Amino acid sequence: MTGHVYFVGAGPGAPGLLTRDAHRAIQTAHVLLVDALVSPAVLNDIRWDATVVDVGKRGGQSGPAQEQITERLIHEARAGRKVVRLKGGDPTTFGRLSEEIEGLQKYGIPWSVVPGITAACAAAAAAGFSLTDRDLSASLTLLTGHRRVGGPNPELDWQAASRSGTVAVYMGVLQAHDNVDKLLQAGVPPETPVLIVRRASWNDEQMWQTRLADLPDAIDRYSIRPPAVWIVGDVTTNARIGVRRPNNGNVVLLRPAGQDNGWKDRLEQTGRQVLWFPLQRTIPAPDIGRRLSELAENPGDYAIFTSPNAVRYWLDAHTSAGHDVRSWSGVRIASTGEATTAALAAAGIRCDLTSHSSGGAGELATILANNQPAVATIFQAADGQSEGFTKLATAGWQLTYCRTHKKELRGDGRLLQLAASRNWINAIIWTSSSQVEGVTRLAPEMLRGQWIHIAIGDPTAQALVSAGVPEPVKATHPDLESVVNVLDQN
Ligand code: SAH
Repeated sequence: MTGHVYFVGAGPGAPGLLTRDAHRAIQTAHVLLVDALVSPAVLNDIRWDATVVDVGKRGGQSGPAQEQITERLIHEARAGRKVVRLKGGDPTTFGRLSEEIEGLQKYGIPWSVVPGITAACAAAAAAGFSLTDRDLSASLTLLTGHRRVGGPNPELDWQAASRSGTVAVYMGVLQAHDNVDKLLQAGVPPETPVLIVRRASWNDEQMWQTRLADLPDAIDRYSIRPPAVWIVGDVTTNARIGVRRPNNGNVVLLRPAGQDNGWKDRLEQTGRQVLWFPLQRTIPAPDIGRRLSELAENPGDYAIFTSPNAVRYWLDAHTSAGHDVRSWSGVRIASTGEATTAALAAAGIRCDLTSHSSGGAGELATILANNQPAVATIFQAADGQSEGFTKLATAGWQLTYCRTHKKELRGDGRLLQLAASRNWINAIIWTSSSQVEGVTRLAPEMLRGQWIHIAIGDPTAQALVSAGVPEPVKATHPDLESVVNVLDQN
């Protein structure tokens, strides 16, 4: 079966400026070919097994040639995959869309285009003015300041472009000198106002206002580098460049999948752009169904739950095996912490005994050991500890362990490599030492950049130091507010 190629506009940068169709395509793609101007923050929520291919040109180095990109699209689609070709802004605007579509057409590969917000619109939105205006400008020209070397290259008619209205120049930072000369020669008055917007909608968005004749100087003086659009026309006198979005930087979050969204949402509310890239997820233990059937025959006296996940996977396993929890009706239920008790309560199961989360298994075992020795099943993760329950075994209890779920590591860390190599990261939040192991294997460049490493807990901080991060910053408490405090102070 042939796959499908989606040419998707990633918008100017901020993830909120993706269309819903774009987001859906990103979430479901097997393979994503990502251009240089795409922000890693729009790549939240990619599939667990998605492959991310960085086809951007950066730092003067060229990316893969156009033919190679088209070949890759064809190859992936012919293998039946859903492919997203992610382009900055809008794919139909200075994005070589037709060349790539032509390549697919030759092989009969189905494709669709999802539009995006183009840079000129994002720039105007950032500065709060209208690109057209019934008194000042009746047209908008999108123009490239950079021409292809050696192509048929129709000469740009600068005069026509500038005659009636606003001109937005893309890819015109490095060519500004030459572009401005042409506009002046075409008769555009030297005092025509110009607005320059760099990285519209990113956290480090910047804007400047100048006059056409002074534009090249302004670019030198303020060391303005691409990507920026400059907009020429009287409409830009209405630009309000004093209004800035909060520049609180970009954060990579590595918390496991399945944990609540609160962290990402809260970090976004503090004006940060977030890439949440879980390195681990939990999956059901392979033989949980068989084990439950065995236990249903002989459920013993106690069922002990050691985490909310143990409860969740235990419940799910009943459902998928066609059982329900009635086989446990005569059994006493115990839990090693409040969150676990709450997970049981949410399923309509009241706990007979709960220890405090801080005391955990050890505390529960001490309470239970006051009773007559009994038969207990302990539901826990595949890598769960048994030490806490030693006291029960010593007291003559008969303990059986049932592994409900296990951790699985992600296979592809190329999205992290992309974020690191584009220097997009300001801070990384590490919540466990296993994340350090995962990153060492999948994207070691994350351990080397000039960003802040925030560690939750001593073992995490130690793992970072062993991995070569000289000074991780420790959060005082293992919670989000402490992390936000550390971010605010650094
Ligand atoms: N398809 C893109 C344009 C690609 S050409 C779009 O529709 O926006 C690349 C040029 O786009 C850059 O050189 C710059 O001029 C402009 N550009 C892209 N993203 C931008 C942004 N966030 N802020 C300012 N200019 C941007």
